[in-house]
Amino acid sequence: MINDEKFSSLFNILSDAQKDSPVEETNLHPQTMCPAFGGLRVVTRIDGAQVCMATDKGCMYGLTFVTHFYAARKSIVSPELMSTQLSSGSIVPDIRATIEEIAKDETVRLIPVVSLCVAETAGLAEELLPKKVGNAEVVLVRLPAYLIKSHPEAKDIALESLLKRLADFSKKREKSVLIVGEIFPLDAMAIGAVLQKIGVESVITLPSQHIDDFREAGSASAVAVLHPFYELTAEFFEKNKTPIIGGNPVGANSTYKWIKDIGAALKLDEALVERVAQEEKEKIKAAIAARKSGGTVIIAGYEGNEFPLVRLLLESGVAVPYASTSIAHTKLGDDDHRLLTMLGTDLRYRKYLEEDRRAILEHKPDLVVGTTSLDSYVKELGIPAVYYTNIVSSRPIYFAQGAATMLDLIQSLIAKRPAFEKMKTFFDA
Ligand code: SF4
Repeated sequence: MINDEKFSSLFNILSDAQKDSPVEETNLHPQTMCPAFGGLRVVTRIDGAQVCMATDKGCMYGLTFVTHFYAARKSIVSPELMSTQLSSGSIVPDIRATIEEIAKDETVRLIPVVSLCVAETAGLAEELLPKKVGNAEVVLVRLPAYLIKSHPEAKDIALESLLKRLADFSKKREKSVLIVGEIFPLDAMAIGAVLQKIGVESVITLPSQHIDDFREAGSASAVAVLHPFYELTAEFFEKNKTPIIGGNPVGANSTYKWIKDIGAALKLDEALVERVAQEEKEKIKAAIAARKSGGTVIIAGYEGNEFPLVRLLLESGVAVPYASTSIAHTKLGDDDHRLLTMLGTDLRYRKYLEEDRRAILEHKPDLVVGTTSLDSYVKELGIPAVYYTNIVSSRPIYFAQGAATMLDLIQSLIAKRPAFEKMKTFFDA
């Protein structure tokens, strides 16, 4: 048995060892909003969908706000789930009654039942819910934050849940592509135009507002997944024997590869595909060459699609010593991971605010494209900073027009550095 003296000596050894170890700054703030938001964006935007949310009123309050503000200007409906209902065991009958109530509206064709963090609703069994009520399919979408670590990954879960129920694989259409990823409308038009040139006859894009696009998604002969976090969706199509094309048409070399990969997956005319891929590559190279520049930029968003932008910036001569995102390192993002790492960018996944702040102090960039909480810290240092979601996600990035738009934007923001330094000097005085 251990005596007091021995215990004290062990304790002292331990605390002396701790004194000598380097003090690590704690990482406290993971950077993503409530993951349910990402899933809600996908399901609430569908015409004819009415969400039934299974959670307590605290989540409901915040998420109703975000669905109005960012998503569909559509309310979400929920059974009364306060402590009384959660502890009384009436949750399943209450949710079923709410579904019945929603389905009385004949225009409702889809009722996503979104279960969130509350332990009693996160474990809701799909078998206890009806599959169809009235005109509406009822689909359970599980989005508890303790399991899903970021809102982009919640989009993937929502999409996979809907596809599992709705996608029809019975009829295949040759020369048809499904594009997976939320993209700027001009990018969607550019993708359609280029794919038409190589002989693609039909393009469906998900997430979509139209429930029929989810049904028809199964008819596609290939799936181009533009963002690396749609892993479950990609696995779902792979299981259903539909080839997956990763990557995206950002930057000269990746765009060439992307067009060639689609051509190969659909067995299109090789010479035609090669010609179009070369043309697009040359156009992008010209757009980049006209904008070759310098400067140091840090990209630190939480949308999960940051690294293609890093690639484009590196291609144009901008230094990007550090970049971070809220999602995990995925198989679909592995090409970018290896390339950017070889080019010397320090990449962080599931990043914390504190990691981003340390990177700012270490690299002293000319511009930061980050999250709101990081940006306010950066501006106080006299460095220009903009919000990734508002600035990047609201502009084209694909093909030559996207490269030109993005590079012009970044250079105009870098040019604001003297103004920010002047402001800092003014407020410091
Ligand atoms: S408790 Fe969970 S679902 Fe509710 S707001 Fe927080 S993270 Fe979102």
